[in-house]
Amino acid sequence: MKILLLGPDGQVGWELRRALAPLGEVIALARDNPAGHCGDLARPDALAATVNALRPDVVVNAAAYTAVDKAEGDADTARTVNAEAPGAIARAVAASGGWLVHFSTDYVFDGSGDQPRDETAPTGPISVYGRTKLAGEELIRASGCRHLILRTSWVHAARGGNFARTMLRLAAERDRLTVVDDQIGAPTGADLLADITAHMLRRAVVDAGVSGTYNAVAAGEVSWCDYARHVLAWARQRGVALKAGPDAVHGIRTRDYPTPAARPLNSRLDTTLLRHRFDLHLPDWRSGVDRMLGEALNLP
Ligand code: NDP
Repeated sequence: MKILLLGPDGQVGWELRRALAPLGEVIALARDNPAGHCGDLARPDALAATVNALRPDVVVNAAAYTAVDKAEGDADTARTVNAEAPGAIARAVAASGGWLVHFSTDYVFDGSGDQPRDETAPTGPISVYGRTKLAGEELIRASGCRHLILRTSWVHAARGGNFARTMLRLAAERDRLTVVDDQIGAPTGADLLADITAHMLRRAVVDAGVSGTYNAVAAGEVSWCDYARHVLAWARQRGVALKAGPDAVHGIRTRDYPTPAARPLNSRLDTTLLRHRFDLHLPDWRSGVDRMLGEALNLP
């Protein structure tokens, strides 16, 4: 199997390099690459030409415009990268009869209510990022290509910056932290997502009937505030020097912490379809976060 991986240096893309390797030849195409093929999602037509030239069996798109706040003032670029480019790739994949794997987000929803949403729930994005990601999903579905769209949330990885690392840095500098306590979701490891993707692809290549959109998040739920407390408790237990421990994390309402882009309060995603159709067990979010922390801090 020939797999074209876009965005190979992001959180999820980096883990996909590992997880996809046993499935076949992985061509990892970053935005800038010396090989002459275009891996830049800001150039949808050139990207489609790359797909046509390489004729992969599977395109896995882990690239996206993920700067949620910046996107509010840069909607055209966000739309090109998150919607037009996935659409162009999907049409090229449809023409060649391959598969497209793409990642989407809880931000396609408005975040109302307190129940998990399944894949059939009405969408209603409240930010530029959310609207462009939803448009990308819709263009993929409209292309008629065989696809796996994985909607995920609150991605973390040992590599690169993330929320847990930020909390640890701030807790080393300050006596007290304030973190929003009314956004609820599931922190999900890039490693878990990559492993799920490889598992789904193994099934997909022998059963085209699994083509579709799936919620893919770790099990359980937590607020950002309790997530921060969990991270600091984990670190303190292992002797990491912190000025602020878990008791020094104070909750704040989202409406009292204004950001350029609105965030959904309810990011709960129902994963029943994914688990049943692919015989998957999704671990609790804490196991992925603890493992990521151990790797990021080089602690057991
Ligand atoms: P990252 O921001 O870690 O990685 C995104 C990658 O896309 C980066 O390597 C970035 O490169 C690359 N990229 C951005 N613009 C372009 C471009 N024009 N051409 C080529 N590459 C580009 O994101 P994640 O790995 O966390 O996200 C993976 C997927 O999961 C995305 O589809 C995202 O929307 C989705 N998702 C992520 C969540 C999260 O919490 N992070 C939550 C829900 C969904 P560079 O660094 O050079 O800009």
